[in-house]
Parts: sequence; C-alpha cells; structure tokens
Amino acid sequence: MSDIKKIAILKGDYIGPEIMAAGLAVLEAATAGSTFKYELIDLPFGGDGIDRVGDPLPEKTIQVAKQSDAVLLSAIGGPKWDDATKRPEEGLLGMRSALGLFANIRPTHITAAQIARSPLKQSYVADTDFVIVRELTSGAYFGEPRVLAADFAKDTMYYSTSEITRIMQTGFQLAEKRRQHVTIVDKSNVLATSKLWRQIATEVAKAYPDIYVDYYYVDAMSMAIIAKPTAFDVIITPNLFGDILSDEAAQITGSIGQIPSMSVGQGGPNLYEPIHGSAPDIAGKGIANPMSMIHAVAMMLSESFGEVNLARQITDAVSAAINAQVMTPDMGGHDTTLTVTNYVIQSIQHVR
Ligand code: ATP
Ligand code: MG
Repeated sequence: MSDIKKIAILKGDYIGPEIMAAGLAVLEAATAGSTFKYELIDLPFGGDGIDRVGDPLPEKTIQVAKQSDAVLLSAIGGPKWDDATKRPEEGLLGMRSALGLFANIRPTHITAAQIARSPLKQSYVADTDFVIVRELTSGAYFGEPRVLAADFAKDTMYYSTSEITRIMQTGFQLAEKRRQHVTIVDKSNVLATSKLWRQIATEVAKAYPDIYVDYYYVDAMSMAIIAKPTAFDVIITPNLFGDILSDEAAQITGSIGQIPSMSVGQGGPNLYEPIHGSAPDIAGKGIANPMSMIHAVAMMLSESFGEVNLARQITDAVSAAINAQVMTPDMGGHDTTLTVTNYVIQSIQHVR
C-alpha cells in the first residue's frame, strides 16, 4: 500500500481559492523534509463546479472524495450563483450526505495570542477551551417536506433515534478524552425533536457514568457561551442550533476568520474546512484571513494523519503571527492574506 496520502481539494468560491492557496502553501512548508507525503487532487465543487462542469457536486467529485484520505474544503457559494438552477450549497449538503459526515466538530480554544483580540473581558475568556459537536446530516436543514408557496412556507425538523444516538456517542467519546463534561443543547420545552434529543442523551449518558452532563435550552445556551465560556467542554447540539452557536462561539476568539472545523463520518475520509462562508464582500482584495484555512490544515494533519507535531508547528506559527501583530483587517490588523501566510511559513522554517 502506498503511504502517499490522497487529499481531495475543493478550493471554493470568492475568498475560497485565496485562503486555500494559503493553506496549501503552509502545508507544503510544514511537511517539507518530513516523512509525511501527500498528493493533492483538485475537484470541481460548489460554484466552481457549476462554472467548470455545470454541477455543484459532480459524480466524479463524490467518487474521488470517497477514495481520498482526507477532504480539504474552502468556503463555497455567493451571489454569483443566486439565479443558477443549481446552487453551490446543494453541493455541500450533498457532499455531507455522500460521505456520511454526521458530526461536525468545532473547537473554540482561545490561545494566549488570541485573548487580546476577544471582544469579551480577558478575565472571562482566558482558558476557554470547548468543542461544539454539531449534528450535520439531519434536522431542520434536511427535513422533508420543504415548501415555499405564494402564501406560506414550511420546513420540517426531523430526527431519528439512530441519528441522535450516534451523535451523542461521538460527543461522549470526545468528552472521555477531554475533561469529562458534556452539555446537551436543545429546545425540549417546545420541540418534539428536542424532547427525543434530551431523552436519548439521558439514555446514552448512563453508559458514561464518569462524565458530568448538564442540559441547556438553546436560548439559554446562547447567553451562557458569552457569560461563562470557560464552563464548557463538549457541547452536543442539533444541526440548526449548532450552526448558530458555533458562529457565536467563534467570535469569542476575535474573528470567525481563524476557526476551522472537522466533519467526521463512519469509516470514510474526514472533511476539514473553515467555519465561515465565502465572504464575497472582501473577495479579490487580498485581505481574507487565511488562519481558518491554515488551522484546518493543521487539524487535518493531527486528526486524520496523526502528525501532531507538524500540526503544533503550524498552530504555533499562527500564534507567532498574532503576537507580532501580523494580521488581516478582520482581526484589527493591516496586513494582507499573503503577508500573514508568508509570516506563518517563515515562523515554521525559523523553528527548524
Ligand atoms: P455562510 O452562509 O456561507 O456561512 P455567511 O453569510 O455566514 O456565509 P460569511 O461568508 O461567513 O457569511 O461572512 C460573514 C462576515 O465575515 C463577512 O463580513 C465576511 O467578510 C467576514 N469573513 C468571513 N470569513 C472571513 C475571513 N476568512 N477573513 C476575513 N473576513 C471574513
Ligand atoms: Mg454562516
């Protein structure tokens, strides 16, 4: 068996390709001279897929992605395809389904370098280190029927017991490796899916007697993430609530432009991506923050390939850039994507 890892590259739209280039340049620099060997396979996807082959999720892209060792995705979508018959976002939802990526793992870990950039009081946020485990392939974003009629609209929120059970197990297993604390988020005072969510959480928790479990309604949780971000370890949430809470959580670190996520399924490759969108408002200006994509590359190296040291070198280099005030405007800096990327690369090379 070849030990050259296959990495599927979905380079994204608007700022997507700009930050993907940054992430891949850092990957190349970090792995240079190491035993980690890889091959990149560029695949049409999202808006780029529509432009290149008329399809946001070509069959060939699915097939090649499935056979890869990891998928690296940048942000997709944007106004360019507003009137297209197929939408870039269909590609993303379809890819999550095709790869069975049912859990999205989003860490909010405030590094020493990031603390000064947080909009919250530093005393509140120091030591913030939690992970949101968001259910990704069901709930409100997938439920059928979905109707947009002239005089009404309807979405469906659906969860099966097996879908809830597996995301709970993913979250509890993660908590076992962390600080043995799980927080269940739902709206079980109102929603049927949330009643089932809480019921199954309570059931699954019995198999993890050492894990401390608490329960929050999503509205209370949106307050608690700001009021006491250090009080959480692993937060397990349905798809819709997780989408919202994780953007909120990202902002605690100062900018959404720094945060990566990992989507995991059963057996297939994991998918790594920034948590933000394609930021059409700043595309082409050379000022997109590449740190989210660079962090996604680091997360891929450590979680899919066990290259913990290489990953650490990358995250340390990002911290060095922040400490040196080499930052894009979203973080209050004045630097370009390229300047930040080159600083990170030089920091990695300097350490060697
Ligand atoms: P999506 O629906 O795909 O999540 P969105 O509507 O939430 O997209 P984003 O594309 O995430 O929007 O952008 C939200 C804001 O954050 C925009 O003002 C954008 O410029 C900014 N932003 C997002 N990513 C970055 C980045 N990497 N660097 C700088 N600014 C960013
Ligand atoms: Mg968003």
